[in-house]
Amino acid sequence: MKSPAASTALAQLDPALDTAPLLRDALGRPLRDLRISVTDRCNFRCVYCMPKEVFGKDYAFLERRELLSFEEITRLARVFHGLGIEKVRLTGGEPLVRRNIEQLIGMLSEIPGLDLTLTTNGSILAKKAQALKAAGLQRITVSLDALDNPTFMRMNDVDFPVERVIEGIDAAAHAGLTPIKVNMVVKRGVNETGIVDMARFFRERGHILRFIEYMDVGATNGWRLDDVVTAREIVDMISVEMPLVPADPHYTGEVAQRWRYSDGNGEIGVIASVTQAFCRDCTRARISTEGKLYTCLFATTGHDLRTLLREGASDAELENSIRNVWTRRTDRYSEIRTSQTAPLKKIEMSYIGG
Ligand code: SAM
Repeated sequence: MKSPAASTALAQLDPALDTAPLLRDALGRPLRDLRISVTDRCNFRCVYCMPKEVFGKDYAFLERRELLSFEEITRLARVFHGLGIEKVRLTGGEPLVRRNIEQLIGMLSEIPGLDLTLTTNGSILAKKAQALKAAGLQRITVSLDALDNPTFMRMNDVDFPVERVIEGIDAAAHAGLTPIKVNMVVKRGVNETGIVDMARFFRERGHILRFIEYMDVGATNGWRLDDVVTAREIVDMISVEMPLVPADPHYTGEVAQRWRYSDGNGEIGVIASVTQAFCRDCTRARISTEGKLYTCLFATTGHDLRTLLREGASDAELENSIRNVWTRRTDRYSEIRTSQTAPLKKIEMSYIGG
């Protein structure tokens, strides 16, 4: 790692050098973002993520002692931050069902300069928004797949009403967890007729709606390419009523392609992970609920950091281990996927962290 003195000297030579990422993988991609799954449990059973037939009453979720503790998560976040991570996103499963999550946010928010955010299904956000903000959460992403209850309930499969998620989004806006992003996964034949209504609704509220192409993550959702509504189709559908123009990315590696409404009033994003894979700019590492490091959402094996933590590894040893994994990284699953879900074993998104 650079010493402060070396850092200052570099900055005097060329300011761009000082902000140069510290760690690059085998394909030259820097390590910038970290997603941490804080629980493999969720109170929804979205048909494309945790279908009831698989994640039913008998499903063996991880035991409490198997989860990373808040102290372990914070320690890892600090080590990753030292290696160049700028952003941490808490996810799951449903992160707000992890008990005392505000406490973890408080601990992570003490890491200087860290961009801290969280992705939630919004179901208990109305209750938690103020406390999350007070603990140091900066902004939030809420997943919502439809505005009409029959479709939404068909997606979440637990009869959870839309109104409660909207209340959560309003509470987050009120608490200042902004900019708020709303994620809509589009599955053909299920919710694509709601695309334009969703766009109109969130444009009026001033939140950024992002459409996600349905992905072949995990092995339980029976994914087929025909079920994917493409980003192009989505942009075209919305443009008929509210014309869109492409907008520049905020930074290299931004997952969503940005589109602005041509009247200057708002924007949307499309995450074309199937039809326009963005592996070449992928700067994300993931830590699963039980502390395994994954370098791709589609990776089949993780690198066990929990054992290192629990066996007393020093920060330098942890750093070395992460460095070894990242510098060898060559994953680019989405760029080489075939039209069929490949017959390899895949890790569920609820475990690895969406
Ligand atoms: N429970 C939280 C939530 O609902 O946002 C966080 C975890 S969830 C796995 C994270 C995101 O992944 C959600 O926006 C969800 O819609 C998305 N997701 C899950 N399965 C997906 C799939 N097969 N394709 C695309 N997105 C998916």
